[in-house]
Amino acid sequence: MTDLTKKKLAGKVAIVTGGASGIGEATARLFAEHGARMIIIADIQDQLGQQVATSIGSQNCTYIRCDVTDENQVKALVESSIQKYGQLDIMFSNAGIISKSDQSILDLDFQQFDRLMAVNLRGMSACVKHAARAMVENKVRGSIVCTASVAASRGTKRRTDYCMSKHGVLGLVRLASEQLGMYGIRVNCVSPNGMATPMTCEVHEKSVEEVEKIYEAGRALQGAVLRAEHVADAVLFLASDESELITGHDLAVDGGFQA
Ligand code: NAD
Repeated sequence: MTDLTKKKLAGKVAIVTGGASGIGEATARLFAEHGARMIIIADIQDQLGQQVATSIGSQNCTYIRCDVTDENQVKALVESSIQKYGQLDIMFSNAGIISKSDQSILDLDFQQFDRLMAVNLRGMSACVKHAARAMVENKVRGSIVCTASVAASRGTKRRTDYCMSKHGVLGLVRLASEQLGMYGIRVNCVSPNGMATPMTCEVHEKSVEEVEKIYEAGRALQGAVLRAEHVADAVLFLASDESELITGHDLAVDGGFQA
């Protein structure tokens, strides 16, 4: 029988990029509840990141500034985590942005495109690369989870650069799971539908309640509000040994949006 009181990440060391806010923050908190030995929050919002780490508790959470667009910073993040905490079991590569100005393919602005891709696709690739290299070197059968989106597997009328970046993340997850399976490393992603986080509230310039209404309208499942905590539950599953035989999978957390 399943032991419901069992801590799913007991003794594990996890990096959470974009952990100062939204989905990353909710996941860092859930990882701590599930007994992770150390959670390293990596973000560029220093004050917020420190606050989240302190509120989780310095015994098992710390904040490190890391801009994922800079490969050297990502490499240093992984190396310093292993140096200080002895191992790396989980990489939750989650940091992402959305462009403020919306564009169709007809008026795509490549400066904006490059900025977004540097975080959403190149940054995520750097996190997967350096986490995987460390896991291979230390013979750790680790779990890597990326945050994709429902925009990873369908075309959208808006957010052209974002949609392309998330298609890239899904490709990254599929190829990395294929290439890293021989080392026992699993690579999966979660694909949330839209929800109210600082990212979406800022881009829509609307309150949490207003943003929740916008996204709920597109879902099959009514009467429930999608929150960062729902995504964190899915990430926990993919990060833990409960999903031992699952790799290369895109787990939608979308209330039936794609159905
Ligand atoms: P958020 O803005 O609350 O959190 C994103 C975090 O990433 C922030 O703390 C930010 O400082 C950090 N970040 C941004 N650029 C960074 C960089 N260069 N280096 C390190 N950290 C950086 O937004 P969120 O909604 O929690 O987004 C998290 C992920 O979820 C993103 O990848 C986003 O694309 C994805 N997502 C969000 C939604 C949604 O509706 N909110 C839906 C689908 C997918």
